[in-house]
This record gives sequence, structure tokens and C-alpha cells, in this order.
Amino acid sequence: MTEVTRVGFIGLGIMGAPMAMNVLRAGYPLTVWNRTAAKAEPLLAAGARWADSPAEVARASDVVITIVSDTPDVEEVILGPQGIIHAARPGMVVIDMSTISPHATMRIARRLAEVGVEMLDAPVSGGDIGAREGTLSIMVGGKREVFERCLPLLQTMGKRITHVGPNGAGQFTKLVNQIIVVGNTLAMAEGLVFAAKAGLDLEKVLEAVTAGAAGSWMLSHRGPQIIQGDFRPGFTVRLQQKDVRLVLEAAREMAVPLPGTALIHQLYHAVESRGLGEEGNHALVKALEWLAGVEARVKEG
Ligand code: NAP
Repeated sequence: MTEVTRVGFIGLGIMGAPMAMNVLRAGYPLTVWNRTAAKAEPLLAAGARWADSPAEVARASDVVITIVSDTPDVEEVILGPQGIIHAARPGMVVIDMSTISPHATMRIARRLAEVGVEMLDAPVSGGDIGAREGTLSIMVGGKREVFERCLPLLQTMGKRITHVGPNGAGQFTKLVNQIIVVGNTLAMAEGLVFAAKAGLDLEKVLEAVTAGAAGSWMLSHRGPQIIQGDFRPGFTVRLQQKDVRLVLEAAREMAVPLPGTALIHQLYHAVESRGLGEEGNHALVKALEWLAGVEARVKEG
């Protein structure tokens, strides 16, 4: 991939907007579309061009990146009435960086292949912080040759970029990632609620345990937020729950019991049912707090 590769970007949410900015800053000519047009303004001010639909983005681009919410949303922007597929040309590449169903990904890739378009599934991990800093982990499924061609572009958004197998393998790997992420979140939540009930100084507890074997990205980044009562989303409960649902669906299809993840799904249900779906995924702690009758906050601890 050379510097003249024209890049299209569809989906300018919490993740997509900063990722697109990093692509633009790396010097790629960038065309963008977002369902809510206002979110494109900072990118347009920085030199990106607007297109009126996903198909129009594709018409202006050699590689089109999508990062929208869920499986039906990716199907909509790629295969829908205004979708990328209507501007398909042999040699064009679609890189879907959303987290969606691995099986649907394989179907979309096959559909695109019929019109000569290559696809990579390249979901990410590292949160809004990784998206801004260009340090995401990117797990990529698709042909190795296409992966290698797109690597310089992916390197503008991520640090650890791993080709894990054919189409679908990127999404399966992301679901592995999510099983571990939600497990870490529950462990952090139980630890902090336990600490609060024991009357410990929560800042000191975090300082002590983050550097040891209990340390994790979740604990370092979201632990301090929890004890300060900051539940602004880097990743919403709503989308976290979507990922847990994708994990459990794939696990059921493969007959893999995941009792821990199923429990966490129910706890997130409790958080959602109290209207907190737009809070950050660390709001899982609230389900444990309700059970224990204590809040793991510095001011109230
Ligand atoms: P977000 O802030 O809610 O953004 C979602 C984006 O998708 C918005 O641009 C939204 O458009 C667009 N969208 C949703 N449905 C659409 C549809 N049917 N047609 C067209 N556009 C549609 O979510 P996010 O946090 O950026 O997450 C995006 C993806 O990245 C998800 O698959 C998520 O699981 C994954 N992810 C997120 C994180 C994280 O920490 N946030 C980390 C790793 C992976 P509007 O602006 O019009 O709503």
C-alpha cells in the first residue's frame, strides 16, 4: 500500500473518529461518512472529504474501513441499499474493524469476493484511549497477502497487529479477548466491593494491587474511574453486552460452556435494566454494589 492509497472511513463514533484522525494525520487522502453527519466535523476541518453514503465513500476510495456497532449495522453499510458493495471494483479492499459475529463476517466476505472485493475482519482492543493514541491491538482475519498490503494503513491505528487466520478468525479472536476482558471486569468489581466493605482506603488498595499479579488493563484504567465515581463510557455497557451476546451465541454453536461469561451477561442485564446502558462497561461494579449494599467510592468508602 502506498501513500497514494485513498482511504474511506465509515463510522465515526467513540472509536472511529479518533482512528480516522490517525489515518488522516499519517497522510492518507481520506473520505468519510457517518450516519450522524455532525460527528464528521473535526475530521472535515482537518482535511477529510465528506461523501453522502457508504457507496459514495467506496467510489472515492481504494480501501474502505468500517467501524459501526453490531452485525446488522455492518451488513447495512456494506450490503445495504446505500452500501459499499454498490461501488465494488475488483482490487478494492474492505476492512471491517467493528466487533460482530464471526459467521456473519464469513458470509459478508464471501459476498464481497463474488464482486472481486477483498475483505479483512480487523476488530480492535485497547479502548477509546488506544484509538486516540494509535496503540490499538488489531486482530486480523483474511488472506495474508491482503493483510500485508494493508499493514502500513493498520499501523497508523494500532501497535500490536496480528494476522490470526482466514476471514472470521479476527472476530473469533476478538471474542476470546472479550471473554477475558469481562472476566477481568468482574474480578475488579468484586475486589473493589470487598475492599469497600472492609473499610480499606481504595486508592491505596489500587496502588498496591495494580503492580502485582492482579494487575490488568482494566484495573489500571477503570479502577481509578470507579473509585472516583466516573462512569463516562470508553466502551458502553450496551456495546459490551452486545459482545458478550456474540460470545455466548458462538459458544452455543460450538457447544462450549462458558459459565463465568454467562453469569456476567446476567449481571450486565441488571445494570441495563436500571437504565445504565450508556455508562461505561466498568459500571458492572454497580451490580455487585447493589448486592453488597456498599459503594466502592473514595468519598463514600
Ligand atoms: P459508538 O460510539 O456507539 O459508535 C458507533 C458508530 O456506528 C457511530 O458512528 C454510529 O453512527 C454508527 N452506526 C451504528 N449503527 C449504524 C447503522 N445501522 N448505519 C450506519 N452507522 C451506524 O461505538 P464505538 O464505541 O465507537 O464502537 C464501534 C465498534 O467498535 C463496535 O463494534 C464496538 O464493539 C467496537 N469496539 C469498541 C471499543 C470501545 O472501547 N469503545 C473497543 C473495541 C471495539 P451514529 O453516529 O449516527 O450513531
